[in-house]
Amino acid sequence: MTADDARLSVAEATALILTGAEPLAPEVVPLGAAQHRVLAAAVRAPRDLPPWRNASMDGYAVRAADLRAATPGSPRALRVVESIAAGALPTRTIGDGEAARIMTGAPLPDGADSVIRIEDTDRGTDVVQVRDARDAGMNVRPRGEDLAEGAVALDAGHEIDAAALGVLAAVGAQLVTVHRRPRVAVLSAGDELVPLADSHSAVATQRIVDVNSHTIAALARDAGAEVHVLGLAADDPHAIRTAIEGAAPYDVLITSGGVSVGDHDHTRAVLRELGADILIHRLRIRPGAPLGFGLLDHARWVGLPGNPVSAMVTFELFVRPLLRRLAGHHALFRGTVPARTTASIRTAAPLTHFLRAELTPCNDGIWEAALTGPQGSGLITSMVHANALLIVPESQREVEAGTVLRAMLLGERALHSSTPVA
Ligand code: AMP
Ligand code: MG
Repeated sequence: MTADDARLSVAEATALILTGAEPLAPEVVPLGAAQHRVLAAAVRAPRDLPPWRNASMDGYAVRAADLRAATPGSPRALRVVESIAAGALPTRTIGDGEAARIMTGAPLPDGADSVIRIEDTDRGTDVVQVRDARDAGMNVRPRGEDLAEGAVALDAGHEIDAAALGVLAAVGAQLVTVHRRPRVAVLSAGDELVPLADSHSAVATQRIVDVNSHTIAALARDAGAEVHVLGLAADDPHAIRTAIEGAAPYDVLITSGGVSVGDHDHTRAVLRELGADILIHRLRIRPGAPLGFGLLDHARWVGLPGNPVSAMVTFELFVRPLLRRLAGHHALFRGTVPARTTASIRTAAPLTHFLRAELTPCNDGIWEAALTGPQGSGLITSMVHANALLIVPESQREVEAGTVLRAMLLGERALHSSTPVA
């Protein structure tokens, strides 16, 4: 356990949060339900893929030796012994002076070693005239070219995306073994909060609508979790405890609010009462300094700060990697890219800053980072325009315009473009 007043770096906090976190137990799901899940075991090819030599274009299956010196002026005549459609099997061996009409994907007949593209022939049905020898030995896909029988098609830890679904379908994997998805419970704490359904009465009662249940649940779902939103608890230890104890089983409990040092910040004390070993109290970052983290018997608690931006930023830094580890991913962290600042920046405290920025690609291949505006941690709109978090290290208080720092990409937004591929 770290001392209550220890202020940890991102690296120290990350290490504490991930220590002992293991991918969840495997379960078997139909391939149709496996998108975004992570393989818990390697998948091997049960047979060669493709399972037979086949034609890579429509044409004539022939023997290369028969084509010698075929030219437009002196074509080679070959006897067409059959026509093989994709889905049909050859019935004949191709001998000297013979050819078979063949369609893309159809198994190559024995004896043949080449497929002559149709444009180099007269398209004959009984006898075909081949006018060019350029396809001698060509246009044949070897058996097992994609995967040899027994070869690893996908490794454990591979996320099942569209391409992986394609590979799994190709090797006939109707069922796949994947890690269970992390179960997440999300709780917002604060006397000032009302649920969205009561938004009409918020102003009259000088309260605000709960934002974090929505943002944190969305981020957790996006990170592959099964999310159970617990709703709101007042700033009252009994209310917070009741909400947590009423939750369905979870792997990660994410609370927001009430982890600071205010008079009404009870979340940490409640978690301690519930038996949590509290490992993190405070970080040297902005936004997001008051972060709580602790180990319960069968779950982990992450106490995000209440400010909506702080909650989202600390989710990206600490909760997403944890959920990805539990879900079985090997790459846990948001990627970073070098980014050049468009204006000077002065940070207000010796903390690592994560500034909301909009990245745009520049002609020299480096990204340019423009801050989205005021950086207050309560300004949820600052997240809407950000596609990255510009990282200003704690040692770098003054940043001149044009300085290259690193920026953490927030999902694919930075990678989409309004201009098409040239
Ligand atoms: P706290 O971390 O509880 O001190 O809260 C810090 C700030 O975040 C306060 O201004 C709260 O009103 C605000 N806040 C806390 N929780 C939420 C929430 N779920 N949605 C929107 N704002 C919140
Ligand atoms: Mg509060």
